[in-house]
Amino acid sequence: MKIMKFGGTSVGKPERMRQVSQLITADTEPKIVVLSALSGTTNALVEIGNAISSGQREKAKELIDKLEAHYQSFIRDLVKKEAPLARAKAIIAEHFEFLTIILKISFSEALSKDILAQGELLSTKLFSVFLEENGIDHLLLPALEFMSIDNHDEPQINSIKTRLTQLLQQHKDKTLFITQGYICRNARGEVDNLKRGGSDYSASLIAAAINANVCEIWTDIDGMHNNDPRVVKKTVAIEQLSFEEAAELAYFGAKILHPASIWPAQFYRVPVKLLNTMQPEARGTLITEEAGSVGVKAIAAKDGIIAINIRSSRMLLAYGFLRKIFEVFEKYRTPVDMVTTSEVAVSLTIEGSPELKAIVRELEPFGTIEVEENHTIVSIVGNELVQTPHVLSKLFEALADVPIRMVSYGGSKHNVSLLIPSAHKTKTLQLLNKGLFGLD
Ligand code: ASP
Ligand code: MG
Repeated sequence: MKIMKFGGTSVGKPERMRQVSQLITADTEPKIVVLSALSGTTNALVEIGNAISSGQREKAKELIDKLEAHYQSFIRDLVKKEAPLARAKAIIAEHFEFLTIILKISFSEALSKDILAQGELLSTKLFSVFLEENGIDHLLLPALEFMSIDNHDEPQINSIKTRLTQLLQQHKDKTLFITQGYICRNARGEVDNLKRGGSDYSASLIAAAINANVCEIWTDIDGMHNNDPRVVKKTVAIEQLSFEEAAELAYFGAKILHPASIWPAQFYRVPVKLLNTMQPEARGTLITEEAGSVGVKAIAAKDGIIAINIRSSRMLLAYGFLRKIFEVFEKYRTPVDMVTTSEVAVSLTIEGSPELKAIVRELEPFGTIEVEENHTIVSIVGNELVQTPHVLSKLFEALADVPIRMVSYGGSKHNVSLLIPSAHKTKTLQLLNKGLFGLD
């Protein structure tokens, strides 16, 4: 069985949905198709939730109406015959009525998750109507019946496996299943989600749960690129990556793949393919256990990074100092990305955090604290990078004029990370594109 996941832009227009239907029927292999919400929908639902939670009910109503109008015109183009059009209208009415009812009841965190779930519920149901109209046999699998997270928000892979296998067993006659990405149930049984961009994670979890042959992630770019195409002019798609390389790139800013989506596929050894809905014949990127080649493969950048420097002479020859510092970050559940130390100081980075003030306050007893915002981590990733001759010299030669704030080297064999002020990001990525890949 194979998994095919289509992102928001791949289902965001009626003609794209039509194209998705062609892609999923191009061969007869049994498959589970995972869909995101139509592009823009989840953002709109976030806005609606924010408006309701801040008591701006009129604004929320306006946003709901605007979104509903978008769906109305969407189905008028998508569905042609009368009966399916009526069904599509009824689906829209049901979900927007739900949003309107929410306006009237008191807001809660659980309710905001219900609001966010509407996007994927709508996209899959409408797609199902479209498939039906076109005589494409399939079954809609409700993700809320099998996808679940525990009380640490971690997916429960074993129960997902059990429930999904049971569901598939009940429908042995079917070869095409459609389901929602992103949404799940939490430990309290409420509707929840796998965080923004989480449809990739859903796809990978499903692929792991049923031991799929391949997990295809269809987006609007022809695979993972060697550099950020929004920042540098010339980039090339990478043909092959190891899971580890892909995880580093996704974590350090490559937007194409949700960082958490690597581990399930990696653990259960399901190859992942990144493919382009707009250009299905492109080779895309294949992610497997093996790395294929040695040396620099790609650069990714993650913005919004804060550097924290803790300087103290008490650190000199002391032990236990780092533990105490890290305990502060643990307490505030804030992940640390980069760390460098000298004998009397430690610098580390976090992503922008609402807890920053509290963290700094708790760090103050340990020494002099300096906080520098607006930084970017630039990560250079490639198999055995650290052992590859001349990588470092080329890197630093290319960046001779860039004020590098921190360097992390040797933590993994496939990654060198640099911290730079965000104002220098564009220049840094361009210089590295030339210096490491010979691309302008
Ligand atoms: N619709 C959700 C989002 O926009 C999940 C996803 O698309 O992956 O974040
Ligand atoms: Mg995505």
